[in-house]
Amino acid sequence: MFAHTLFRKRCALWLLAVGLLLPVSGCVDESSSLERVKKDGVLRVITRNSPATYFQDRNGETGFEYELVKRFADDLGVKLQIETADNLDELYARLGQLDGPQLAAAGLTASHGRQTQARFSASYLEVTPQVVYRNGQRRPTRPEGLVGQRILVLKGSSHAEQLRELQNQLPALQFEESDAVEVVDLLNMVDEGQIDLTLVDSNELAMNQVYFPNVRVAFDVGDASSLSWAVASGEDDSLLKEANAFLQRAEQNGTLQRLKDRYYGHVDVLGYVGAYTFAKHLQQRLPRYEKHFRAAAQNGQQDWRLLAAVGYQESLWQPEATSKTGVRGLMMLTQNTAQAMGVANRLDAKQSIVGGSKYFALIKDGLAAELKEPDRTWLALAAYNIGIAHLGDARKLAEAEGLDPNKWLDVKKMLPRLSQKQWYSKTRYGYARGGETVHFVQNIRRYYDILTWVTQPQLEGSKIAESGLHLPAIDKRKPPAEAAPQL
Ligand code: GLU
Repeated sequence: MFAHTLFRKRCALWLLAVGLLLPVSGCVDESSSLERVKKDGVLRVITRNSPATYFQDRNGETGFEYELVKRFADDLGVKLQIETADNLDELYARLGQLDGPQLAAAGLTASHGRQTQARFSASYLEVTPQVVYRNGQRRPTRPEGLVGQRILVLKGSSHAEQLRELQNQLPALQFEESDAVEVVDLLNMVDEGQIDLTLVDSNELAMNQVYFPNVRVAFDVGDASSLSWAVASGEDDSLLKEANAFLQRAEQNGTLQRLKDRYYGHVDVLGYVGAYTFAKHLQQRLPRYEKHFRAAAQNGQQDWRLLAAVGYQESLWQPEATSKTGVRGLMMLTQNTAQAMGVANRLDAKQSIVGGSKYFALIKDGLAAELKEPDRTWLALAAYNIGIAHLGDARKLAEAEGLDPNKWLDVKKMLPRLSQKQWYSKTRYGYARGGETVHFVQNIRRYYDILTWVTQPQLEGSKIAESGLHLPAIDKRKPPAEAAPQL
């Protein structure tokens, strides 16, 4: 197979070099890129190790690009082999090598300047390049405002290309490129004031806003651009065509939309203000309570990040939170629940977290055995919010509609009906604010995803950790010597 690759590419290069328009039989046709992938049983993909593309979480490999390209490999019936490049220049260089990977899936912009470097698939995501600045600094609103600012972008990126184009009209514009950083590092540097501005794609900002409280959009640069997969420029059409057909199917069957929501929907769900508020609280509040979440989770064999996500949804990690309905404390327990869980003082953060964790475990253990993970967890969260009785009603409604009462996605459709008379009048336990429960679970899942990313052990050795970004270092920080002073 290696020989094939070599042979084919040599033929292609040779034909290109002498400019012959000869039929390519015996060279390219002998074995197309698609045939080789199938014959080898492996699709070799090069990407970047970043939150928007590919990284490891507690369950293994993940990331938008990874998930999409994994489905493509599954469709082709082959294994996926991921390789990572340290920067964009290296990525394109390796893609063009004779024995290089067959596809690049790395949040790449199919820009003009790159059309000789690679061949691009259809677009799977439309993004807008954005100038990003630090809140509190002067906000540039037009390209002229970039002059005289300290600007850093990824080396070899579409953004460097855009800035070079702008230099034609604005010769005084200066910027630097670095191949030692990733987008998260750039955002971190803006957040901490080490640089004035950077340019990133809107999807990257949307997903990372939740880590950088000071980062804001200054203005959009140019029109929307397309993110695409790429193959080497000398490559034949077969793999690209197959990729395009796959991307079209993914668009039609909703796969693409689901992935976009999951990875880039943070800002859609939280709103920009919610996203940077979360980032602020992640830095300022969570460190005080993290050890309590960890300890409570350990006792109940739970995931501390899920408990922390519940705590954020309930009180924004405020131990003295109270509501008009009489629920109180960091986990917002009712008096009855607190009593049942042995919580003497609901306003004590540690007690509240232990009580919330016990209560959640109790609810989850009480769910029918046929409920399987991860739906079991999402349904337990719903029950934590609305009560096990109303959840039972929603599950019965699902069953009556021919939906699956054991699937969160199906039960989620029924929950809002619990506040509509035509439906709740037919249920055993009647009216409940089911729409709120849907938001409750969705928000918690979002916070949980974010916390999972921030605390993944893999980050410890990464550029992000080295760059001094304090958020992912949560796992590394030593717990405070004394009980956290809250209240
Ligand atoms: N889309 C960019 C490019 O192809 C990389 C991602 C980013 O810098 O936000 O250069």
